[in-house]
Amino acid sequence: MKVENLSTRDKKHLWHPLTQHKLNKPQLPIVKAKDALLFDEEGNEYIDGIASWYTVMYGHGNQYIISAMTKQMQKLDFVMFSGLTHEPAIELSEKLMEILPQNQAKLFFNDNGSTAIEAAIKMALQYFHNNGEKRDTLIAFEDGFHGDTFGAMSASGLSSYNGPFEDFLLKVVRIPTPQVDNIGEVKKMLAQILKENSCAAFVFEPLVQGAAGMKFHSATGLDELIGVCHENKVLCIADEIMTGFGKTGKDFASDNLVNKPDIMCLSKALTAGMFPLSITSCSQEVYNRFLSDEVHKGFFHAHTFSAHPIGCVAAIAGIELLNSPDVLKRRTYIEKAHTAFASKIESHIKVEQVRVMGIILAIDLQIKMERYGNLRDELYNFFLQGGVLLRPLGNTIYVLPPYVITNAQLQKIYDAITEALDTF
Ligand SMILES: *Cc1c(COP(=O)(O)O)cnc(C)c1O
Repeated sequence: MKVENLSTRDKKHLWHPLTQHKLNKPQLPIVKAKDALLFDEEGNEYIDGIASWYTVMYGHGNQYIISAMTKQMQKLDFVMFSGLTHEPAIELSEKLMEILPQNQAKLFFNDNGSTAIEAAIKMALQYFHNNGEKRDTLIAFEDGFHGDTFGAMSASGLSSYNGPFEDFLLKVVRIPTPQVDNIGEVKKMLAQILKENSCAAFVFEPLVQGAAGMKFHSATGLDELIGVCHENKVLCIADEIMTGFGKTGKDFASDNLVNKPDIMCLSKALTAGMFPLSITSCSQEVYNRFLSDEVHKGFFHAHTFSAHPIGCVAAIAGIELLNSPDVLKRRTYIEKAHTAFASKIESHIKVEQVRVMGIILAIDLQIKMERYGNLRDELYNFFLQGGVLLRPLGNTIYVLPPYVITNAQLQKIYDAITEALDTF
């Protein structure tokens, strides 16, 4: 009997996300991963240049994290988190409080990024409801991305994902991101929106809009917008699902702000890519609004796998690594290397703009590409054939490598990009 390869078997019953199966090439089966490398069935290796969607920051197969998870599995695999509690969740809360902005006081667990946003939005709406106020509008940035469930999708402004569902979304009003030259204008728009609507919350990706193409905005500008929201008693929700855990140089992008968000959403690198888990954290003031002698003023929202112990210990181990001397050294090195490479290619004829923040490098190409168009796919395959996994977002090539990537691997990514610039 002929043994079929994984690609052939994949095609029989599997439906992949963000994929038009009639047009896309077969999916690439990965059989093994270690540190910054992925290996396919034939033994070819690929450098994971985007840390598997910004998650595996301490590398694939990290022994320190695996050993913490293995021990936990032997001791307590899983229990419900309603009526019961456990040490991994408690210890994680203590560890996170040490690094989160000072005003964060309580953690609510979910199981992925979208559900963290969903919980944050529901928290904000109920925060006002519990006070007898009906506030029905959210404020969000143009081109933001917050996930694919209905609340999260409503807050997201990327139409390539929302198209068929637009009639079914929550009420959201959008503002442009604040850049050095438009802060006054955006503040005016925000003030007008606040006057004309009953706004509950402002949802934003702080400093970097990931899915939009690693677009940056002004920290000062965002700070001022949060200030205006706070003057109007509107809750501010920082979506740090991508930016959290060191990506922008600081532990959290919100560390660059004077005005702190009331609610924060964490996932992705939270568990170092080892387990699906997310957290919606909030200030004491938000939490207090749910305390009452009336049962239903509590937050009646739950996911079965809330605070899964295996995910919690992965998160604890990840936080321990985040600011360890070895990882700190790599974080500094990567930022320096990105900066040097950026200045080398910024005047290349094919380059429109290059930007670096922390370990994020983004290059906008002059050539226009559709988000899921042919040319973009050619570029994706060009990198793959060169042994590098990068996922261009339209005409933006970005690198967001695991902290453990070696100097040589990083250089190989830069070389592949340089070659792409000369080819496309
Ligand atoms: C990935 C991401 C999400 C959604 O998280 P999922 O786990 O994919 O649901 C939300 N916001 C941002 C900024 C993200 O990068």
